Amino acid sequence: KKTMRLDKMLGNLGYGTRSGIKQLVRQGAVTVNGARAKDAGMQIDPERDEIQLDGERVVYRDTVYVMLNKPAGYVSATEDARDRTVLELLPEELSVFSPFPVGRLDKDTEGLLLLTNDGKLSHELLSPRKHVPKTYRALVAGEVGEPDARAFSAGVALDDGYVTLPAALRVLSRTEGAAPFADDEAEAAVARLKSHPPLTTNRAAYAQTLAGDGKLSWIELTIHEGKFHQVKRMFQAVGKQVLYLRRVAMGPMPLDPGLSPGEWRELADAEVDQLR
Ligand code: URA
Repeated sequence: KKTMRLDKMLGNLGYGTRSGIKQLVRQGAVTVNGARAKDAGMQIDPERDEIQLDGERVVYRDTVYVMLNKPAGYVSATEDARDRTVLELLPEELSVFSPFPVGRLDKDTEGLLLLTNDGKLSHELLSPRKHVPKTYRALVAGEVGEPDARAFSAGVALDDGYVTLPAALRVLSRTEGAAPFADDEAEAAVARLKSHPPLTTNRAAYAQTLAGDGKLSWIELTIHEGKFHQVKRMFQAVGKQVLYLRRVAMGPMPLDPGLSPGEWRELADAEVDQLR
C-alpha cells in the first residue's frame, strides 16, 4: 500500500501551496472517503482513497501526456533566456507535472510535439535504435521530383558527412511563379509562411518566392531518425531550401487536425499505449 500526505497529493496536482491547502482543509473543503479531513498532513492512499475537494472527486495521477500543435516562434525547451518556450503554451494545471518536450522542433517549425514527464517513454521514442518514424510536410523552394525521392531513399550525405537512413519522399503538389497551389493545404501553408517569415536560414529563398518567380513544392517526407535540422539539411544536400516545415506524425500518432497552431490536448490512455 502506497501512502502519502494529503497536502502533498493535492499540491502535486496543482491545487496550491502547502499553506493554501492547509487552509482549504481547515475550511472543511476536503473530504477523505466521505469524512471531512481534519489534518492536511494525514496519510492517504492516492490510488484507493476517495478524495473530494468542494464536492468534486480529485483523481490522482503523476504522469501527463500532451499533444501540442507547436506554432512558429517558440523553442522546444523548458527554459530559455531569450525566446518563448513551448511550455508557455500549456496551462498551469499541467505545468505542475513538469512536462518536457519529447525531442525538438526548430523555432520556425510547426506541428506535432509531444510533451510528457514520462522519461522512459520519451527515451524510447527518441532512441536511435528504435527508428520511430516521423513524418513532415514542407514547402520547398524549387522543383522537388523523382531524383530527390531516389536520393532520399538511398540516403544523402549531410553537411557533416553523416549519411541519412532511407527516407520516403512524396511530392504532394507543385506550383509555378505566383500561381496558387491547387492543393488547399499547401496554399494554407503558403499563407502561414507569409505570416511567419522564416526565422533562421532561408531568407533569400523566401524573398525570391514572395517575389513570385520560381517554383514551390509541397512535399511529405518520412524519416526514421532525428538529427539536428535533419529535414532542412536533407534538402540542402540536394540543393534545395525548406521554407516552411510542419511535423504531421510521430510513430503511430498523427497530428490531431482539430488542433490549430498553439493548441494542445492531453492524449487518451489508448493513444499513450500505442506509443509504447
Ligand atoms: N527537421 C528540421 O530541419 N527541423 C525540425 O524542426 C524537424 C526536423
